[in-house]
Amino acid sequence: VTIVLGHSALGRPIRAIELGDPTSPEKVLVVGCIHGTECAGIAVTRLLERAQPRFDLWLVPNLNPDGLARGTRQNGRGVDLNRNFPSEWRARGRRGDPEYPGPRPSSEPETRIAETLIRHLRPRITIWFHQPQDVVRAWGGSVSAARRFAGLAGLPFRRIRWPAGTASNWQNHRFPGTSSFVVELPSGPLSPAAAARLARAVRLLPK
Ligand SMILES: [Zn+2]
Repeated sequence: VTIVLGHSALGRPIRAIELGDPTSPEKVLVVGCIHGTECAGIAVTRLLERAQPRFDLWLVPNLNPDGLARGTRQNGRGVDLNRNFPSEWRARGRRGDPEYPGPRPSSEPETRIAETLIRHLRPRITIWFHQPQDVVRAWGGSVSAARRFAGLAGLPFRRIRWPAGTASNWQNHRFPGTSSFVVELPSGPLSPAAAARLARAVRLLPK
């Protein structure tokens, strides 16, 4: 089932796809792209669209369609969406800076779309794809799920604290007991084999 969650700052639709068993308590959310220049994870969500998991799997292939279209890390208004979440948010810099957090927490429609989905869904596990550091990174209560994912995907794992205003920072504070972590893919597009390995790791992650 594909639904339009809402629209980006410049009016592009942001879609979610639900697969598997909607009644399962095991809910997993995968966001393929939040930084518009780090969108290799969309290929993983494309493979997962054909999966038939026993759990409830939600895909948001692209939370930042304006950034992808314009070739910018930030959204269409020059805000770094992954510094705009309402957890440890702090003002700094200005519009267009690489990590500009916005004029206030949740100022951007894309951020609010993600918050609304996550509040309703309460995913047990959330995976946010980024590039290009080639590492799975997590902190606090999300470490064990992230470490397990790294093992399944054949990627290195590192404990790294969530930066201020990130989606994982917000989720880990707001929804204790759930896991939200970042998978930093290498630079460039994923090979078909790498995309397949990552999609498989997502399918195998819930126990
Ligand atoms: Zn990023």
